[in-house]
Amino acid sequence: MAIKAVKGVKDILPGSIGAWREVEKRAKDLFARFGFKEIVLPIFEKTEVFTKGVGEGTDIVQKEMYTFEDQGGESITLRPEGTASCVRAFIEHSMFHPPGSVTKLFYMGPMFRRERPQAGRFRQFYQIGAELYGAAEPEADADVIHLLHLFITAIHIKGPKLHLNSLGCEVCRPPFKAALVEYLSVRKEGLCENCQGRYEKNPLRVFDCKVEKCQQMVADAPTIDKHYCPDCTGHFGTLQKRLAQLNIPYNVNPRMVRGLDYYTRTVFEVTAEGLGSQNSIAGGGRYDNLVKTSGGPQVPATGFAVGMERLMESIGQPLEISDGNPDVFIIYMEEAADEANKIAGRLRENGVKVERAYKPLGMKNQIGRADKSGARFALIIGADEVASRTAKIKNLGAGTQTDCLLDAVVEELARLVSR
Ligand SMILES: [Zn+2]
Ligand SMILES: [Zn+2]
Repeated sequence: MAIKAVKGVKDILPGSIGAWREVEKRAKDLFARFGFKEIVLPIFEKTEVFTKGVGEGTDIVQKEMYTFEDQGGESITLRPEGTASCVRAFIEHSMFHPPGSVTKLFYMGPMFRRERPQAGRFRQFYQIGAELYGAAEPEADADVIHLLHLFITAIHIKGPKLHLNSLGCEVCRPPFKAALVEYLSVRKEGLCENCQGRYEKNPLRVFDCKVEKCQQMVADAPTIDKHYCPDCTGHFGTLQKRLAQLNIPYNVNPRMVRGLDYYTRTVFEVTAEGLGSQNSIAGGGRYDNLVKTSGGPQVPATGFAVGMERLMESIGQPLEISDGNPDVFIIYMEEAADEANKIAGRLRENGVKVERAYKPLGMKNQIGRADKSGARFALIIGADEVASRTAKIKNLGAGTQTDCLLDAVVEELARLVSR
C-alpha cells in the first residue's frame, strides 16, 4: 500500500497553483501600496510564544497545537497562527526603535492546528497576515481594513461582508465582563458543558460557542456597546467615519468577539458567500497590549490574517493568470538535434518558455505532443530545414505556418510570443 498524506493535510497541485500564486501576487502589490514589508517567520517556535501570546484560555492553545519535545528537551510548537510569532520577532529585533515609529509587516505561509477535519478546515493551512505596530489611532485600523477590502475586491470574492466590533479596553471591558458573568451565572444550566466550565474566567468565549443553546443564550446577553468608556466610544466612532470616507461597507456586530484573548477595541471579520457555516475568510483586530505582555515595551498594534484555503474557494470569477504553458514547442528530427538544442537554449535565455522532446520521435508524435502542451507556436526543424537553413514556425492556434531562416528564428519567435 502506498503511503498517503496525513489527514487534514493536502497537496496544492500544479493545476491550482497558478491561481494561488496570483492571489499572493495581488496581495503583495497591495501591501506595497500601504507600505508593508515582508517578514519570513520560522515555522516553529518555543511553545511559550503561543501559550503567552495566543492565550492559555483559547481553544487553539488548549486543544489544537502541535507541540512536542525536541531531542534537547525543549518544548517546541508548530505555529498555529502568525501574530504571536511576529510579535516575538518584532521585540527580538528591537523594531520598536526609534520610539513612536510605525512598523508594517506582512507574512505568508503555512500554519498548523490539530482541528477536527471538516469542510474548509485543514491541519496545515495557509495564511497571509499583516501587522501594523506603533499606532493606536483608529486611522491605523482603517488602513488595514482598507487594505483587506481592496484585496478582497481585487480577487473577486463572492458576496463579501465586513463585520465590525469594538471590544472596549481595560477600563470598560471589566465592568462589561462582570455584567456578562452575572447574566450567565443565573442561567448556567442552559449553557453547554464546555461553556459552564469557562464562563466565569472567559465569559466572552460563550459568544464564540457554536452550540445552539449557547447561541440562543447570548442573543439576549449584555453586549459591550452599552459599556464603552468615552475613549472607546470616540475611537470606534472615528474608525466608522474613516471607513465611510473610504467607501468601505461594514456592519457592526456587538456579539462578534473572535476567539483570541489579545484583542483590544477594534475587531473585524470578512465572510463570503457559498461556504456554509465556516464562512469566515479573514479576520483581525487591534492588540494594544500583546507586545508588552510578550516582554516588549508598550507598543499598540493592529492587523489581520487571511485564510488561503477558504479564500480560494470563494473566488467568484476566474483570475486572469498565465496558464504556465510553453510559448514554443520545438519539433525536430535526428539531423536537427544540434540546431534544436542551440535554439531552445537561446530562446530560454531570451525569456521564452520552451518545451522540447529529449529524443526526436516521429513527426506525428511530436506534433501531437506540441498540441497537448498548450504551446502557442511550434518550431519545426527536419533534415530538409537543416539543409536549407530554414525552419517552419507554426501558429498552433490559427493553424497557419510560415518559413523563417534558422539564424532569425530566435528573434522572430521572441517577437511573436511577446504579442
Ligand atoms: Zn474603553
Ligand atoms: Zn457553549
